[in-house]
Amino acid sequence: MSKRFPPGKCIHCLKDFESLTSDHLLPKAWFPKDMPENIGRWQIPSCSECNKNYGKLEEDLLVAFSHCLDQKDPLCKGLYIKAKRSITPSAGRNERDSEKRKKKRARFWKKFVHISQVPKSAFFPRFGPNEVPNSDWGLLIPEESLKKFGEKIIRGIIYITKKIYVNSAHEMSVVFQHEKNIKDLINLIDTHGEIHECGPAISIKIWYAKDYLPCGIFDILIWRKVRMYGFVVKRGE
Ligand SMILES: [Zn+2]
Repeated sequence: MSKRFPPGKCIHCLKDFESLTSDHLLPKAWFPKDMPENIGRWQIPSCSECNKNYGKLEEDLLVAFSHCLDQKDPLCKGLYIKAKRSITPSAGRNERDSEKRKKKRARFWKKFVHISQVPKSAFFPRFGPNEVPNSDWGLLIPEESLKKFGEKIIRGIIYITKKIYVNSAHEMSVVFQHEKNIKDLINLIDTHGEIHECGPAISIKIWYAKDYLPCGIFDILIWRKVRMYGFVVKRGE
C-alpha cells in the first residue's frame, strides 16, 4: 500500500508541492516474491518528477545488480529471472513495451567492458560475479548512478528514523572504500551504531552525531554484495 503524504517538501529536490507521491526507499521491483513486511513502511515523500527519475535509475541498477548476485540463493535467483525478463523484448505486453525493453537491453549490454578498460576507481569491495571468477569481462556500473542511489538511501533512512530532511545546511557524500582504509569509522558504527534491515535486500548501519542531527556515518549494504559508506556533515565543516 502506498502511503499518503500531506502537502510539503519533496525529500529529493526540497521544493514544496501540493501533492507528493510515495517513493519506496527500496523499489518494490527489487523483491522477487512477496516484499518483507517492513519494506511497506519504508516510504518517503517525493515529487512525481524525482520519483520518476529515480525509478529509471533504479530499473537500470536492478538489471546490473541482479547479474552479479549469487544465483544459488533462491531469493536472488528470482530477482535475476525477473530482471532478465525486463530486458527481453518478446516478453513485452505490447509493441511499445517491447520497444522499451529493447532499449533497456541495449543500455545493459553497453555496460559490459573488458578488464583492460575498467577504470581504477571501479573497485567495489565484495562485488563481482560469483560464477565466473576468471572472466576477463565485467559489468561496469557508473559510479555516479550508485552514488545517486546511495544519497537517496541516506536521505530516506534519515527521514524514516528521525523525520528530518537533509537540506542545504548539510553536505552529503557517498564513498566506496575498502574496509581496511576506514577501520576507525567502521569500528565506531559497529560499536555504537543502530541497524535497520529489510530482508536480504538492504542493511543500513547508522551512527548519528547525537547533538548534530542528521549528521552521521552510514554503512549501506545492498543484497549483501554492494557496499557504500555515506557521510552527512554540517556544510563548511
Ligand atoms: Zn522532487
